[in-house]
Order: sequence, then structure tokens, then C-alpha cells
Amino acid sequence: MGTATEVKTTCSYCGVGCGIIARRDLHGRLTVEGDPDHPANQGQLCSKGRTLNYVVQDQSDRLLYPQLRLHRDHPLQRVSWEQAIDRAAAVFRSVIAEHGPDSVAFYISGQCLTEEYYLVNKLVKGYLGTNNIDTNSRLCMSSAVVAYTKMLGEDAVPVSYEDIDHTDCLLVAGANPAWCHPIIWRRVEARKAVYPDLKVIVVDPRRTDTCALADLHLQIVPGTDVLLYHAIARRLYDTDRMDLEFIRQHTEAGENYVRILKSLHLRSAAKTCGVTLEEIKLAADYIGDARAFLSMWAMGLNQSRVGVEKNGALINLHLLTGQIGKIGAGPFSLTGQPNAMGGREVGGMASLLAAHRVLSNPADREEIARFWGVDRIPAEPGLTATQLFDGLETGKVKAVWIICTNPSVSLPNALQADAALKRAKFVVVQDISNRSDTADYADLLLPAAGWLEKTGTMTNSDRRVSLLQPLVAPPGEARPDADIIIDFARRMGYSGFDYRDVSEVYDEYARLTAGTRIDVSGLSHDRLQREGTFQWPVPSPVHPGTPRLFTDHRFYTPTGRARFMSTISHADAPPVAPPDRPLILTTGRIRDQWHTMTRTGKVARLRKHIDLPYLEIHPLDAAAEKLENDQLAVVHSQRGEVRVKVRYTRDLRRGVVFLPMHWGKTLGSDLTRANNLTDDAVDPYSKQPNFKFCHVGVRAY
Ligand code: SF4
Repeated sequence: MGTATEVKTTCSYCGVGCGIIARRDLHGRLTVEGDPDHPANQGQLCSKGRTLNYVVQDQSDRLLYPQLRLHRDHPLQRVSWEQAIDRAAAVFRSVIAEHGPDSVAFYISGQCLTEEYYLVNKLVKGYLGTNNIDTNSRLCMSSAVVAYTKMLGEDAVPVSYEDIDHTDCLLVAGANPAWCHPIIWRRVEARKAVYPDLKVIVVDPRRTDTCALADLHLQIVPGTDVLLYHAIARRLYDTDRMDLEFIRQHTEAGENYVRILKSLHLRSAAKTCGVTLEEIKLAADYIGDARAFLSMWAMGLNQSRVGVEKNGALINLHLLTGQIGKIGAGPFSLTGQPNAMGGREVGGMASLLAAHRVLSNPADREEIARFWGVDRIPAEPGLTATQLFDGLETGKVKAVWIICTNPSVSLPNALQADAALKRAKFVVVQDISNRSDTADYADLLLPAAGWLEKTGTMTNSDRRVSLLQPLVAPPGEARPDADIIIDFARRMGYSGFDYRDVSEVYDEYARLTAGTRIDVSGLSHDRLQREGTFQWPVPSPVHPGTPRLFTDHRFYTPTGRARFMSTISHADAPPVAPPDRPLILTTGRIRDQWHTMTRTGKVARLRKHIDLPYLEIHPLDAAAEKLENDQLAVVHSQRGEVRVKVRYTRDLRRGVVFLPMHWGKTLGSDLTRANNLTDDAVDPYSKQPNFKFCHVGVRAY
């Protein structure tokens, strides 16, 4: 019998970043409850967070020891850690020697801890000599990152959850927080309960549970978001509801934007968007009359061929009305993954550098190289997520190391991901679970420690940094991801990886942020453990953190002014549908599952909500194909097929169908992956894929 103990930590699923108190009793049994003192959740947890103890305790799927195969036709064999890391180092050395540093790549995850992200970046950009490190956050947040940077001068979310308690107009766009960010949504419900005058506008082609609270649901035609926000802006312009003083003093590039607005015909814009003119006017009334206007968005804007422009068009509404940098107001991108923001902070993408330094800036590269004690950081941006798998498929990239993510299900072209991993010369998969479809392609499979088994930090959607602490030992020979990376770096002979523990990794990163806009030099693991969570910047050990940015209306651009995204047009109309694929497919999450279900799929209570993949379709669209409710159907796109049962719903626009993104081969079949179908297009600036718009046809199976 062991000792009972407890730790404070943070939920490892979504970007809400709820605080959790985890306890282990004398028999080793785990329980979790919401941390009442945590500002993100104040004691509440959603269905996923409440069942995390079962995920940790059910070890039936855990990878327990390293496994290696020397040839693809051979089965994986158990090896020691020493053999595993030796093999990885030998292959990476020989591939780099023969084909150059850009022939290797790392593909990591928004679920990695900040220290892990930092270490992999330092290893790849500082020592391996390539910028080929990207992350599944590319699939999630990169359009918001580019829009914030272009318009506000840096990737900086201006607001806090606390702003929900003070807003009087909330616009939710391309998101279903009632299911996907549930604890944020509880807070919105609480606000509406105490302040019934709160106006809630929801923009979504689907009538989701989030719409239950909506005063106005704009059920737009998918792909028309930019035009919709321009139309609302035009109405604000026509009715003199702009903040001219704010525009004059604190923004730039507004003239072009106004020219675009003036060229707009409101009635025809409404028609293209699939809403009424009255609805656009009402949205403008709600926003224009608000003392404090807050917007929230997620994948419906980001995962698009024009994701940056969609973000920009929405942020423009805040600049037009001066609704930023004050209590209850501002643009708020909801992070999908728990540490997508922490990863960006340390430069965890092919196009970024640590501590918001800029990869394209030679002085920034030199500064980071000096700090790391290396000769140089390569100037050439690395391959982004989809480019990296293109590179594997064409043979340009020979060796890839995949950490804590399942690209065989989650990449927009799942079939290509399989082909690319087959073609690769050497694939390392570092994961906790044998339920990852990607593990099938591993030449080297490394068992990692999971949640409650390791230490490190994460940053949630509102810039709040928290410390995650271990309560149990990892099973078998599994090790924390940071230890594995450090071990590999040392085996490669690199000198900059002498850390006693991960708190020293955090200290090094924190030093690098000193004097920047994301300064966390006032934070350490010790302080986070002692005092709880903090919102960056935290520039000194006594600084209390920063709930809200831009309160002085000085932005991070060279001029200090926010920039309207004035280059955008409203030419965001969807392309014409081919006759055999008349429907628009949009994909997304369901309430009780997370990503590719390697963890939530283990919990019987969560499977009870929805346990099989399905296609939502309007009954009239189904009738056109003579499809009964619950009938097995084939959904087909230009690229591939999916076979699932159809589920009738009148909550969709006619002509739109919805498929959940969770099911992969391991938990479904080859023919349940939504990403057999989805579009190959990516946003030209952010390189974020377009998961939300794809022409499909449906027929009976
Ligand atoms: Fe975890 Fe997100 Fe649920 Fe909070 S809302 S408990 S962070 S999954």
C-alpha cells in the first residue's frame, strides 16, 4: 500500500486549460476534481476532464518499452533505451551526412509541454541545422497567429476569460464552444443569467448547442465569412457606429478597408451569405450598440483556404468600433489544444523562432544562435505540416520523428499521410498509446510518459501559464518526452543539453523572453507551484501577470497602430460544385471525444454519448439521394470515400453535411476517416489546411 497524495495540475485536452486537483489514495486509485481556485474553471470540469483519471489508470493500451525494426517487413522487436537512442542517432547522422539537414524533420503536437516544445526546437533549429519542425497546431491555430501578427504586430491574444463576465455583446464564429470549449460556455451562460441584456450572435452553417443561447443565429453558406463581416462593417459605417477617434489615433490602412466596404452591395452580400438583410442589420445593431463587444472563434475561421482573411475581417470589426484593449471587449481566438499557445511562444513551428523572435530577421536568428551557443540558425523556413508530408511522399524528407500526434488520422489528406509514412526511410513515433494509427508505420516506437506522469508547463487560450505535476510513475519503461529528446541530443554529441531537470529548461526559455512582449522572466516552476497560474507577460518575480493587452491602445506594430486588414477582398465565394458532388462537407468535433480518440475512446462513459461515426444531413438532401435515416451511405469527394450511417437533422443548412473528425482506422476502419475526403487547399499565408469546405456526394451503400 502506498501513500495518499495530491497535486494541482491542468487538464490535458482543450485550450480552456481548466485547473484540476488530482488525488491518489492509499490503494493507488486516482480521482480528479476541478480546482476551485483556478481562474479558468473555478472548480468546474466538463465530461472529458472529469474522466481523465480513468484514462491514466487504464494502462491496457500503453506502450511500455522501446521497439525497433531494421526492415519494414520485420515485426517491431523490444530493445533497450540505449539501443533505441543509438539507432535513432545513427540513422539521423547518416541521413544528414548523405542528404543534408533538410532531409530530416520533426512533427510534434499542441499537446506537448512548453519545455518539450522548446527542447525540440533548440535541437532541430540550433543543432540539426534545419527549420523542419512543425506541429499539429498548424492545423489548428496558424491562421489566427498570422492575422494577429499582421494586424496587432504580434501573436498576442488581447483578452481574458474574465472579459466574458463584462461583455454585453458576444459574437461566436465558426465554433461550438457548448461542446468543444464547454467550461468557457458555462461562463457565457452564467453571464447571460445575471445579465439578460447580453446579446449573443452565433455564425455557423450548423445550428449547434451553442445556438441555444443565441439572440441571433447567422446560418451562413460555408465559405462566406469574409463577406459577412464586411457586410456588418458596411452597416456600421452607414449608421455611423464607428469609433472615429480610435481609428484616427490608433489604426492604419483604414482607407483601403473603407473603399472595400463602400464597394459592397448589402442586399446582394446578404444573399450570397445565405442570410437576410435584416439579420445583417441586427448583427450590426448589436455590435454597434455594445459598450463592450467580444468575439470568439475557432476552427470555422482558421481551417480555411482564406483563414487569415476570415480572422482579419472579424478583427477589423473590433478596430472599426474601438472594441479592443478594454474590459469585456476584444478578439479572442479559442485555442483547440491545451498548449498550442505555449508551443508558439517557444517558436514551435517551421516559420517561427523562440520567444516571438522572427525567423526571417537575421538579427533575431543571430541572437538566438548566440543564446544557444551555436553557429547559426538556418534562414530558410522549414516545411509546414502538409509540406512536410509532401516531402516524405516525394522522398525529399527521409527521416521523420513524430511526437504525441496521430497524422495518419488528423492530416487533411489521410491517404497521403499513409503513403508518405510508407515511403519514408525512417519513422520514429514517440507516443503513449498503441491506439495511434501512426504507430503502424514506426521503425522505432518510443514509449512516452503521459499526463500525471511528468512535469512541465502549458499556456491556455488566455495566455495563462500553469505547471503540470506528476502524481504517478510512468508505466513500464516509458519516459517523459523531454528526457527522450535530451538523451537523443546528447547521443548526437550536442553540448547544449545539460539540464538537471525540466525546471532548468523553463528557466532557460524564460531568460530568453526577458524584455520581449511575452516576457515570462518572472516565472519559474517554483513560483508556479507556490503561487498558481499567471497570464503573460510576467516580467519580474513580483509581477502579478497581465490580464489584458493593449489597454493603452499602443499596438506591437512598428508604428504602434493596429492595422486594418485592408488587402482583403470579399471574393470568398465558394467554387462551383461539380454535378456529382453537390453537397458541402464540413468536419468537426463531438462533445465527448478528443482528437483521434486514443484517450477519450478508452472511457465507456464518454463513448455513451456518440459511439459510432455518422454523417449529419438535412432530410431533404437525403431524400434527393433516397437515403433513409440511419442507412449506411458512401460519402465521396474528389479524393476518397467514407462509409458511415446518415443521421437526419434539420439543424444544418440545406446543401451542407457534417462528419466528425475523430474516427481513425484503429477505432473505426479505413473508411471512417473524415480526412479521406477533405480538401488539399491551404491558406496561402498560414499554410493552415481547409477542413471546413469540400464538395462531396452521398449515395446509398
Ligand atoms: Fe478539459 Fe477543456 Fe473540458 Fe476544461 S473544458 S475540462 S480544459 S476538456
